[in-house]
Amino acid sequence: MIQFTDYNFAGHKVLVRVDYNVPLNDQFEITDDTRMRATVPTISKILEDGGSAILMSHLGRPKGGPEDKFSLRHLVNHLGKLLGRPVFFAEDCIGEKARLTANKLKPGEILLLENLRFYKEEEKGDEGFAKKLASLGDVYVNDAFGTAHRAHASTAIIAKYFSPDRRMFGLLMEGEVKSAEHVLHHSQKPFVAIIGGAKVSDKILILENLLDKATDIIIGGGMAYTFMKATGGNIGNSLCEQDRIDTASDLLKKAAEKNVCIHLPPDSVIADKFDANANDSTSPSNNIPEGWMGLDIGENACEQFSNVIRKSKTILWNGPMGVFEMKKFQHGTKAVAIAVADSTQHGAFSLVGGGDSVAAVNQFGFADKVSYVSTGGGAMLEYFEGKELPGIAAMKG
Ligand code: AMP
Repeated sequence: MIQFTDYNFAGHKVLVRVDYNVPLNDQFEITDDTRMRATVPTISKILEDGGSAILMSHLGRPKGGPEDKFSLRHLVNHLGKLLGRPVFFAEDCIGEKARLTANKLKPGEILLLENLRFYKEEEKGDEGFAKKLASLGDVYVNDAFGTAHRAHASTAIIAKYFSPDRRMFGLLMEGEVKSAEHVLHHSQKPFVAIIGGAKVSDKILILENLLDKATDIIIGGGMAYTFMKATGGNIGNSLCEQDRIDTASDLLKKAAEKNVCIHLPPDSVIADKFDANANDSTSPSNNIPEGWMGLDIGENACEQFSNVIRKSKTILWNGPMGVFEMKKFQHGTKAVAIAVADSTQHGAFSLVGGGDSVAAVNQFGFADKVSYVSTGGGAMLEYFEGKELPGIAAMKG
């Protein structure tokens, strides 16, 4: 596949799929522009070369027709500020309005198209719709890692309407794919995967796939208690997926057969209710009293997990260790963030991904102390589950 940095975009109309699915408040103000900022290097290079950029994205979950609250118009001013240039807007992503505005674009100019998901053909991966989008530009750049796991018209199907020398990943996508491939296929050992969050059911496929890759797997967060239960522990009122207890047992068995060391939290911070002001105490994770629930990993777990992380050369982190949104239960996630940052400083490669772990490293100010922070939650999870992502496959042809 051709490399974005080697390409000269002078005179080209470049159709760029971005992921501007950003949160907006009641006043339609952007409350987190991370995904927009992440595309600036790609767009800037196209413009500086003397190309023009036609940006397309989805926003929210419209029901299949135009809805003002999901209009990309709300992003125009902020995007202009980020790029330091005016941004034109087309009130439709296909048809006459889009075509006329795209045709008028001059080198160095930017056009943002209206929400792709105002057409249900987008999510259906409709070929006719993809072809109409493709007709707006002569080069296609995919910089939307966040939607790379979807076989939608603008993320995958569209690629076939551009010859292999006219389609490529943008810088953001390139960085995401490179760091994910590095962890999955070229990891230096020891390789620790830190998997947390609420549910075993969401993470079972990634855990299974990592059994063939990782040296150590740390399991924290709510999902750890289903594992504790599987080993015969008393977990009180902690989160537990009854129908996943056997799955958890199987996974522990497979890990032992494959010599992968699974680390469960030996102790927990427990609470008498799921509340920021709950009474709290500590307890062994396998002996939590009735009426209490584990909401964070305990001090011994922090120390044990940190030791594993500090001796690792490759680190993958997906999911928080506790209810980090509440001050009383954020210590474990913070301790893990510190250990990941330390290990990175001493030469380990660390990749953090998945909505909540990214939110946690941002909240604690560790985002620039890890090797890579992924912008793609679902896409990253599916990549590490071992699935081929349609947005990546389509580009490779
Ligand atoms: P996920 O989206 O599956 O990564 O889960 C993230 C969510 O899991 C966060 O909102 C955390 O508050 C929550 N979480 C983490 N640890 C626990 C726990 N011990 N009990 C309940 N929820 C938890």
